[in-house]
Amino acid sequence: MTMSQGSGPIYHNFINGEWVPAASGEVFENRNPANTEDLVGYFAKSARTDAERAIAAATRAFDHWRLVPAPKRAEILYRAGQMLVDRKERLAREMTREMGKVLEEARGDVQEAIDMTFFMAGEGRRQHGQTAPSELRDKFAMSIRQPIGVCAVITPWNFPMAIPSWKILPALVCGNTVVLKPATLTPLSALNFVKVLEEAGVPPGVVNLVTGGGGDVGNTLLEASAVNVVSFTGSTEVGRTVSTKAAPSFKKVHLEMGGKNIIVVMDDADLELAVDGCVWGGFGTTGQRCTAASRVAVHRAVYQAFVDRYTARVRELKVGDGLDASVQMGPSVSRGQLETVMQYVGIGKGEGATLACGGHALDKGAYAKGFFHEPTVFTDVHPQMRIAQEEIFGPVVSVIPFDSFDEAVAIANGVEYGLSASIYTRDINLAFRAMRDLHTGLFYVNAPTIGAEVHLPFGGTKNTGNGHREAGEAALDVFSEWKSIYVDFSGRLQRAQIDTE
Ligand code: NAD
Repeated sequence: MTMSQGSGPIYHNFINGEWVPAASGEVFENRNPANTEDLVGYFAKSARTDAERAIAAATRAFDHWRLVPAPKRAEILYRAGQMLVDRKERLAREMTREMGKVLEEARGDVQEAIDMTFFMAGEGRRQHGQTAPSELRDKFAMSIRQPIGVCAVITPWNFPMAIPSWKILPALVCGNTVVLKPATLTPLSALNFVKVLEEAGVPPGVVNLVTGGGGDVGNTLLEASAVNVVSFTGSTEVGRTVSTKAAPSFKKVHLEMGGKNIIVVMDDADLELAVDGCVWGGFGTTGQRCTAASRVAVHRAVYQAFVDRYTARVRELKVGDGLDASVQMGPSVSRGQLETVMQYVGIGKGEGATLACGGHALDKGAYAKGFFHEPTVFTDVHPQMRIAQEEIFGPVVSVIPFDSFDEAVAIANGVEYGLSASIYTRDINLAFRAMRDLHTGLFYVNAPTIGAEVHLPFGGTKNTGNGHREAGEAALDVFSEWKSIYVDFSGRLQRAQIDTE
């Protein structure tokens, strides 16, 4: 799979069970965002031909794979799950090196893939359909899940192994084949996951990996008539393009996109607990989680007390290389992402928000070779300001004061996204009203906006999603379609809705 060349290893595509370079022979670099002198490796810079080969391999493999009994498919997944357990530490370290998240969180990312592998392996013996009575005598009625075909899986860089796993595993257990195009910033973790699937015994062509840009590889996947399902996680802007390009061939399109998540802190909240949640929710993964709590709305009665404690804690966060166990927040994933953060800090200042802490890129000493930024909090933010409306995807949190629960609900719902929200309160009635009235796909009580588990549906409303969910049993709905089957064992013609006997 890899050969040493120059200063770093070369990693290939995985097509039809073989590790092969891009047809053009071209590669792109993958560097450590905490230290850009650290070259993680070279990856295949693929183009249309490579994607087409992968689609052809997946199309051929589907004929065989769909007929493998689901419990047998699942046995391969169980083996893969155990291999991930055995390799967890190495895979996590490689992830931190290519993506920057602190090692503890990289272990969590691999753990999510492990959890999803075992959960979906269990679906090998479930995938329950329905049996129902028939309105006619001697007639049997049931529904079963059927695989759909070739699934294009397009993933972002922020959960480099977990997100591919969330899509590939339900696709496989349902009997589909896959072409994975991971983000160009984090191809190694995706490749490591595919390698595990290969070694666990997934047959040639059933899972294919094609690394390279969205324009080249992504477009080919979206336009190919042989691709039946597209499962995409990424920005809302690219999601719109994906949706549009996949529409003419009527692909089933599953989109998980941006967020502008909120934690609501009521006047009766346990403030210490709320501060803990807002630090973790806002600055975990350097604010680069789709569920990051980039807005915190605080009741005016406890506003100043909250802000004092929160900013004191945020100032103490240790920023640095995620491989250092004492570091709490790593770098932004790329220079582009760091520049976005810096731009939004400028926008927040220009809009008149109070810069309560942070606000600067870190580029001296140990930080000089990476994409580091201070954890940053704006206070006195108006809910309509751009920093409170737009996804920043970095370590910047906007604190917004409010006077009543109803106002908090309006603030929470007053954005274009609907992924995750949370409330800190001791009032059970308010908690239940918030559960009902905040228009998001995920909701937490007395916990931050991050912390989803693999066995419940995951996804968002409004411009975050297009109505599908991943994870849990809901993921099967993306990667299978229902077939209703009627078996008439009466030996005579019986006409539904017409014959009465
Ligand atoms: P992105 O939209 O830039 O890229 C996502 C993927 O799409 C990458 O693999 C990219 O190469 C590919 N792509 C780009 N252009 C394409 C095109 N024209 N055709 C096909 N594919 C194309 O997103 P990103 O920067 O990698 O990730 C960050 C974004 O992902 C954030 O907006 C975040 O909120 C979102 N995200 C959402 C969820 C969720 O579950 N809702 C989870 C994680 C991340």
